Amino acid sequence: MASVEMENQLPSAIPLPIPRDQLKDIVEKAKDWALMHGAAMRPKNNYNPDTLSFAPFILTPSAFPRKEFERAVQIQTTLNELMHKVAHNRQFLTHCLKDTVQADEFTGNLFKIYETVHDEGITQPISLGLLRSDLMLESRCTTPGKSCRRRSPYCCWKQVEFNCIASGFGWLGPASAIIQRYVLQELGYRDKLVNLPENGALQGLCGGMLEAYKIYGKEEAVIMFVVEDVTYNICDQRFHEFEIRRMNPDVRVVRKTLTQIAHEGKLGSENELLVDRDEVAVIYFRAGYEPAHYHSKKEWDARLLMERSQAIKCPSIQYHLAGTKKVQQELAKGGTVEMFLTEASKIESVKEVFTGLYSLDFDEFGDQGVQMALDSPERFVLKPQREGGGNNVYGQNVREAVYKMKDSKERTAWILMERINPPVSKSYMIRPGGPEVPELVDLVSELGIFGLIIGDSSKIFANTQVGHMLRTKISTADEGGVAAGLGALDSPYLI
Ligand code: ADP
Ligand code: MG
Ligand code: MG
Repeated sequence: MASVEMENQLPSAIPLPIPRDQLKDIVEKAKDWALMHGAAMRPKNNYNPDTLSFAPFILTPSAFPRKEFERAVQIQTTLNELMHKVAHNRQFLTHCLKDTVQADEFTGNLFKIYETVHDEGITQPISLGLLRSDLMLESRCTTPGKSCRRRSPYCCWKQVEFNCIASGFGWLGPASAIIQRYVLQELGYRDKLVNLPENGALQGLCGGMLEAYKIYGKEEAVIMFVVEDVTYNICDQRFHEFEIRRMNPDVRVVRKTLTQIAHEGKLGSENELLVDRDEVAVIYFRAGYEPAHYHSKKEWDARLLMERSQAIKCPSIQYHLAGTKKVQQELAKGGTVEMFLTEASKIESVKEVFTGLYSLDFDEFGDQGVQMALDSPERFVLKPQREGGGNNVYGQNVREAVYKMKDSKERTAWILMERINPPVSKSYMIRPGGPEVPELVDLVSELGIFGLIIGDSSKIFANTQVGHMLRTKISTADEGGVAAGLGALDSPYLI
């Protein structure tokens, strides 16, 4: 038993615990450093648009096996290509989502827009993908052999999900390393800084938007961010805006909610998107991924308007659909990746990162999924077609939820995923309102790798990996959304 626990424990970046007085001092400095360098959010309690709190962060970076990190970085362009091809295959998307769109109104509405614009004929064939593949190390891999490389005691990583819309933390990802570099330096560990990998996520993602802007080719047009009514994760969004302005001060950025676009938006004679007085070259969605963002039919009409326009969309509707959990589950079925990729080595490496994903459709496989969920619910995570965290079902609740819906079409709106068991690391989680001297706690991390892709149905113009982010949560928490208050900013310390 002891050896299993040892194997499940990642080493810490520096000797821990930090002596009490030193800890108190460094926490105080690190909080100020975070605030003064923009690693911050608007507080959800006592919201005030003139106030920021630092974003929760882990004091020291979390260990991550270097080989697994490199493997994640390396595979990103293949995953980008796979998702691009999936997004451009109408037959496949339709097949994957045929039952889900009946059972889930939100996905159904997205799919209606997809069908409408495809039947009318696509106005803008080029899509911009700013993608993020999220993954966790699997410490309990029980199937050594082909699918398990056992390159490190922490086994290999598995994909949690693939985000195609509003893939955030392009700023807060790199920002966490800025805090932790400062902390390591102040504590006298400058020699360890080489183990924090460079992270060009912000420049990479903003460079992608500027590249799409150039392709659109009109100097007076703007880049439009579609935003929530209230943005808590404001630093992450604003730093993207500021970086675009820094990289090219001639390009203007505007922020609009779906409701504002519904009121101010229209199509010009060439289907150019006009919002207020601006022609929009590139639309970057930081909202629109959850039902609550669409207050009425007006907001859905705005989404359709944008989709009908010439503006280059990040993401276009087909990308949004390709990023659904249902599509992820279908891709993990034997023989599917082969439909999209040709190189055997690429196919093999993609299949290795999938963990068990099961449908709950009304067929033989779906019935098996239902049975597995009822028999051993703790082995799985139950997921609907939603983004943004806080939507999944865990543990014993999986059984209850599946039992309740097993005879209704609702079950086809969900997928079942094998629960990943990441190794545990130790550090201090620093959060606004937390104690002066924090406790040492057990943590688990989720790594996100950012990808950039630009292309149309026949050609890919750009395909790169542009950076990463690490989110870390208390090891016993089911989910670790930073904005939701459960997770914290972190960065990988390569071992
Ligand atoms: P969302 O699109 O809402 O972010 P995710 O699939 O990423 O949905 O799930 C949210 C969170 O739930 C993840 O960040 C992770 O903490 C946890 N989670 C999801 N899938 C798994 C899994 N298979 N094993 C363990 N944890 C998971
Ligand atoms: Mg997601
Ligand atoms: Mg996620």
